[in-house]
Amino acid sequence: MGDFLAKGKFARKLSDTLGLPLPAPETLIKSDAPYNSQPLTGCTGILQVDTSFQQLIEQAGLTVTDAEKADALILDGSAYKTVSDLADAHTFFSTNLKKLKRNGRVLILSGEGTDTVSKAIQRGLEGISRSIAKEIGRKGATANLLVWQGSDPTKKDQQLILPAVYLLSRYSAYVDGQAFKVSDQIAANGSGYDGALKDKVALVTGAARGIGAAIAISLAREGAKVMIVDIPQEGEHAQKVAQEIGGSFLAMDVTQEDAPQKVKEWLQKEAGGMDILVHNAGITRDKTLAKMDRKYWDQVLAVNLQAIFSLNDALIPDTLHDSGTIMYMSSISGLAGNFGQTNYAATKAALIGYAASLAPSLVSRGISVNAIAPGFIETKMTETMPFFTREGGRRLNNLSQAGYPEDIAEMAAFLAMPGSRGITGQVLRVCGGSLIGA
Ligand code: NAD
Repeated sequence: MGDFLAKGKFARKLSDTLGLPLPAPETLIKSDAPYNSQPLTGCTGILQVDTSFQQLIEQAGLTVTDAEKADALILDGSAYKTVSDLADAHTFFSTNLKKLKRNGRVLILSGEGTDTVSKAIQRGLEGISRSIAKEIGRKGATANLLVWQGSDPTKKDQQLILPAVYLLSRYSAYVDGQAFKVSDQIAANGSGYDGALKDKVALVTGAARGIGAAIAISLAREGAKVMIVDIPQEGEHAQKVAQEIGGSFLAMDVTQEDAPQKVKEWLQKEAGGMDILVHNAGITRDKTLAKMDRKYWDQVLAVNLQAIFSLNDALIPDTLHDSGTIMYMSSISGLAGNFGQTNYAATKAALIGYAASLAPSLVSRGISVNAIAPGFIETKMTETMPFFTREGGRRLNNLSQAGYPEDIAEMAAFLAMPGSRGITGQVLRVCGGSLIGA
C-alpha cells in the first residue's frame, strides 16, 4: 500500500470529514521527463545573486521576476561576514517568502568564511535554510543550501550551476533541508543538461525492482547504457527492466566469492568498462541486538558492505573509467541509528565513512564518490514494516509524506552527470527533510 494520505483523495476527505488530526500533505510536483537544454523553463524567480551566476540560471530557463508570486527565491549570502550582514537574509526572506508559490524552491548560497567570525556567520546560513525548510514544507516547497568550499573563485559558478539547477527543478521535489558541499577538487565539466549521460555506461546492483530499478530507468533516460546485476531469483524482473531500457542483465549474487571477477569480465566484454557505479543492492534482517542471531548480522554485513568493498577492489583499478562516479545507497538509519537495525545501521554508516575515505584517492582520476541517504521510501522493503512504524516514517519530515524510488533515482541521475563532480566524499539525503538524524 502506498502513501494513502498523500495519494488517496478518499482517505484525505474521510480524515477531513471526521476531523482527524491527520495533515493532508501537499502533492509534490515532480518530473520524470529527460532533462532538456533549459530544465528551469516555466520557473520564475526572485534573485539576489552575482550577475554572472544569474546569467547561468537564466540560461537554464529561469525567468527573473519582481511579480507578487514566484517559483523560486535565490539568495547568495556567501559574502556575509558579520552579524549585521546576516540581517540582509532577514530582509530578503521577510519580504519575499510570502510570494513563494506552492511547490516552490528556496536556494541559499553560502561559503566557508575566512576568519573565525565569518566562518560562524556562514554556518548561520545553514540554520536559516533548515528552518525555512520547516516553515514552508506544508506548502510542498523546499529550501536547501549550497556551500562553496572551492579554492579558486573563478571556478565557482561552473561548479555550482548544475547543483543549483537540480535543487531548483522538479527533479529534487523530495530533497529538503539539506546543505550540499561543492568544491573544485574535480572540475564540473560537461556542457548543457540534455543527453549528459550519452555514451556513458552504468552498473546498478539490485536493479530488479524498487530503488535500483528506478535508478536504472533514470540513467537510461539520460542516455546511459545500463548494466544490471541482481540475484538469479529476481531474474525475470531484472530481465524485464533491462529489456525496457536497452540494457543488459547478469544474474549474480554480489556476495558470491567469484562475483567481482565475473562482473568485471562481463562489463569489460559487453561494454568496455563503465563510468557510473551504483552500489544499490541491500537487505534488512531486523531484530534488537540482544536477540539478533549471528546469521542475521552476517547476512546484512555481507550484502550491504563486504560485497561493495570486494566489487570496488575489482572494478576501480581498470574497469571504472576516469571522470566517472561511484554511489553507495546508504540510509537515514546510517545517520541516526534505528531500533532493531544495528546490523543495517552499521553498514549504512560505514558506507558514509567509505565515501568520505575513498573520495580523496580518486580525485586525481576525476572520479567522485558519494553516499545517498534515502529517508522513508515506498518500496517492498518498507512494505513489510508494522503499520504504525510505517506511518511514522512517512510523516516525520517537513513534507509530511513518503518519497518514492523515483526521487532517489533523480538524485542518482544528477550525481551521474559530469556537472555534479564538484560534490565528492559527501552524504546526500533524499528524505523530505526528515526530522530523524537531522
Ligand atoms: P528492495 O528490497 O525493493 O530491492 C533490493 C534489490 O537488491 C532487490 O532487487 C534484491 O533482489 C537485490 N539484492 C538483494 N541482495 C542481493 C545480492 N546478494 N546480490 C544482488 N542483488 C541483491 O529494496 P529497496 O527499498 O529498493 O532498497 C534499495 C537500497 O536502498 C538498499 O540498499 C536499501 O538498504 C536502501 N534504502 C532503502 C530505503 C527505503 O525506504 N526503501 C531507505 C533507505 C535506504
